[in-house]
Amino acid sequence: MKNIERFIRYAKIDTQADDKSKTVPSTLKQKDLSILLVKELKELGLSDAYMDEFGIVYAHLPGVGDKIGFNSHVDTALEVTNTHCQPRIVEKWDGNDIKLNDKYILSSKQFPDLARHIGKDLVVTNGETLLGADDKAGIAIIMSALEYFHKNSDVKHKSISVAFTCDEEIGMGAAHFDLKKMDADYAVTIDGSFIDCIDFENFNAAAAKIFIRGVAVHPGEGKNSLINAILVLHELISGLPAKETPFDAGPNDGYWHINSLNGSSESAELEMILRDFDDDNLQNRIALLYEIVDSLKTKYPKIYIEIKVNKQYENMRPYVEKDPRPIELAKKCLLKNGITPRSTKIRGGTDGATFSKMGLVTPNLGTGSYNHHGRFEYMVVQEFEKMIAVVIDMMRA
Ligand SMILES: [Zn+2]
Repeated sequence: MKNIERFIRYAKIDTQADDKSKTVPSTLKQKDLSILLVKELKELGLSDAYMDEFGIVYAHLPGVGDKIGFNSHVDTALEVTNTHCQPRIVEKWDGNDIKLNDKYILSSKQFPDLARHIGKDLVVTNGETLLGADDKAGIAIIMSALEYFHKNSDVKHKSISVAFTCDEEIGMGAAHFDLKKMDADYAVTIDGSFIDCIDFENFNAAAAKIFIRGVAVHPGEGKNSLINAILVLHELISGLPAKETPFDAGPNDGYWHINSLNGSSESAELEMILRDFDDDNLQNRIALLYEIVDSLKTKYPKIYIEIKVNKQYENMRPYVEKDPRPIELAKKCLLKNGITPRSTKIRGGTDGATFSKMGLVTPNLGTGSYNHHGRFEYMVVQEFEKMIAVVIDMMRA
């Protein structure tokens, strides 16, 4: 149970990120775990381990052959607190409801996927916090694999680079990441759920802001002169394809989604996001938005309309296709451990997507933990242990 104890030790350290904060990392408590990891990495023989000014931990273990990188993130999600996290192991789960506390029950009736794990050991929360297996399970998997090579110094391994990043959950995990400090030929993030998944496809993403200043006149005298900014935005929304929202989008589909609409009759602003696996489709969605804005400009020459579109992240697939080494290695090592690999499309972004764009191809692997970001999060001990074996094989020379 030593590896699982390591995970529980990390899980008990509160590292929740904060998207309102202006500091880097967003919460200084993330460094509590980073500092501990530096100490433990040094004990495992990665003598150059250090934490940089952004709380990111880098470490290297010289070896032979390829320089392979491993990344996980220390922070936890915002939805549920990480303070006083008290993981509990349910040994050989019998399939019955698991009472987390007086208020919450983890049940296969609510989470049918849970039934796959009858007979396995589960790590669950006490219902008050999330578990934070996203992504301390990833960290514990990497650390446990490194321990294997520390204990078995006669076993040859590749040159191993490790980076533990901060603030992944608020989209800032790659913001201060330094490819030179990482120093790897290719890498993987260990930050997913299903351990048979090698994920290398994610959304292309853009965010748009549209500001409208209408024409303000006393409504009683508004005939042919008052132009209501909110109603113009309403027209804009009506021009978007009604069936392409997250509500309608299937697993391979992109979407447009309005995050917020604020303002008054005089001026109003809309914030939205656009997503698609195919970059041409994303460009078409953006082009449509510009077309609608242009037509509104023509229809209402007296109003002011401003549109700003920012590219957020890119699908990593084209980068991975150019350098499939990490995918092929992961496939080989999963198969060796009796797991048939598959790939799913990530309906969001990953730090690995940004690393891939920066020049370090980085697909994502699973941890054996599920229901991330909530109090019903749980980890399957046997799957977690299996991933340690997979990562050891990936590290082998
Ligand atoms: Zn994560």
